[in-house]
Amino acid sequence: MPHIVTLSFDDGFMRSSYRTAEVFEAHGLRACINVVASWCGDGFGCWDDWNALRARGHEIGVHTWDHTNLAEIPLDDAKRHVDRCRDDFAKSLEGFNPAEAVYNFAYNASTPEVEEYVLSQFHALRTAGVSAVNPVRARRITCWSHGPENCDAFFDQVVSEFLMSSGGWLVFNGHGLDDEGWGPMSTSYLDNLLARLVRLDHVAVLPARDVLFPPPSA
Ligand SMILES: [Zn+2]
Repeated sequence: MPHIVTLSFDDGFMRSSYRTAEVFEAHGLRACINVVASWCGDGFGCWDDWNALRARGHEIGVHTWDHTNLAEIPLDDAKRHVDRCRDDFAKSLEGFNPAEAVYNFAYNASTPEVEEYVLSQFHALRTAGVSAVNPVRARRITCWSHGPENCDAFFDQVVSEFLMSSGGWLVFNGHGLDDEGWGPMSTSYLDNLLARLVRLDHVAVLPARDVLFPPPSA
């Protein structure tokens, strides 16, 4: 089995998102940045930023309409949040197609009922799980995350164990870089990590969409 690593960054911090994109680009990789449809300004990027980063080849993923915990509200309300999220992305993000997108739950919190609805509207979903290693092309993707302090050491342990395993699709959910966001990763750690991973023939670092829908060149 291949070893595929998806290291995504949630919430859409403007400064961190541009920096993340630059670090991935420096290693010839595409970043996976998951943004909240209604968050813009006050340190968060806006659709112009997301369309610009998308045009540079990065995946701009779905991280809810307004970051409500959908496991804590009535199902009908949760469905309206999912619909509004889908519609806002369709209206604002160039090339967006929910049939090829992952819905990344806020707080990685979900219920079986809301998951079922999300999978009727999006190709896949990402939520919390006992394992962060998934079958390649899973539609119900489980991930790990670590905070509120810096996540370098935790992720390093996770990725080291994964590289020694028989493989699969490791999905880790980061947020900002350095001093921004919950459980941030250091820019220097990310840079060194990617340099290390791209040298390994049996490892691919990919945004989620490229795992689910491999581009023709892959
Ligand atoms: Zn979030």
